[in-house]
Amino acid sequence: MRKIITCIGIRPDIIRLSQIIKKLDKYFENIIVDSGQHYDYNLNKIFYEQLGVRIPNYNLNIKSGTHASQVAKLMIEFEKTLFEEKPEIVVVLGDNNSSLGFTLATSKLNIPIVHIEAGMRSKNWIMPEEKNRVIIDHLADLNICYLPEHKENLIREGINPRRCWVVGNPIIEVVQAVKTEFKQDTPFFLVTCHRAENTENERNLIKILKFLEELYKRKDLEIKFILMPKTKNMMENFNLSFPEGIIPISPQGFLEFLGMEKEAVLVLTDSGTVVEECAILGTPCITIRESTERIDLIEHGANVLTGMNVDHMLDAAELALSRKIEPVSHYGENISEKICNILIGNSLNFNKNLER
Ligand code: UDP
Repeated sequence: MRKIITCIGIRPDIIRLSQIIKKLDKYFENIIVDSGQHYDYNLNKIFYEQLGVRIPNYNLNIKSGTHASQVAKLMIEFEKTLFEEKPEIVVVLGDNNSSLGFTLATSKLNIPIVHIEAGMRSKNWIMPEEKNRVIIDHLADLNICYLPEHKENLIREGINPRRCWVVGNPIIEVVQAVKTEFKQDTPFFLVTCHRAENTENERNLIKILKFLEELYKRKDLEIKFILMPKTKNMMENFNLSFPEGIIPISPQGFLEFLGMEKEAVLVLTDSGTVVEECAILGTPCITIRESTERIDLIEHGANVLTGMNVDHMLDAAELALSRKIEPVSHYGENISEKICNILIGNSLNFNKNLER
């Protein structure tokens, strides 16, 4: 069996890779490496347990830190794993600092890299994720895209189309595979907010809290706010507190959270994965950001992008609440199988001189 390494950076990576790993395990000697960037039980281990993913072979324990220290630590630790395991292929997903560190270390050793979730672009260069995406896609030997427009983005940037494949979005298989766990009789809104552009920027964080305060005054519905450790720290730094009606709750397990998404009257978020899940479930959802890389969901009507103006956020919420959302149907099927197919395929002549 050919040896590969599958890299896991943060919470959404475990979720998105959960079905793919089960398929890869059948055809490859698959070494799982978790960066340790997310280390609390409810941001890491609970997802392995709930989604039936086996415990990683390595945990690199890089924890929190500045961008440079996280990426640097990860490169140093992962290089040791690469020397020890000598994989034929390294599989990386997403756009977080761990994904970047995994990619840089692998590329320096000329080991072929497969990047899943390639080609998404927000065109917002301030976002750390956008910079990570561009670097990872350009270093990857093989880019696996969710949608044809993501492949087009790569081709526009000069990447050889032979290095790009389109397979659909693996999150749909994950949502279909689980049975959710949540019930509440009274209606509620659900919020997640922890992206750097919203939490590290005091003005934006104040605007979001003001928006939620106004929304509560208008609608009189409980607002459940999933409070990540980073957002909590930033609120303390800026001396901010939650207005009336907003209930902070700790990060939930996937089965509980997906259940909440299903039951919520409206989901308000800056997450990339949450918007996709709402679009699959048919739950109204707004994206509290200036830009999005999920343009397909705006075009489909499943999502409204607010911009960072409180009045516009309120308009977006009213608009999303006013209409019925048809669950999306363009995410495809058999995604994990297609990914295995591409990795196994003889057409892929992985070697150290892979044509750019
Ligand atoms: N999620 C969860 N519990 C929570 C909040 C989110 O299980 O309390 C899940 C959610 O269903 C989605 C993923 O975590 O699958 C989203 O993670 P995040 O917003 O951190 O990352 P992004 O999608 O922005 O990369």
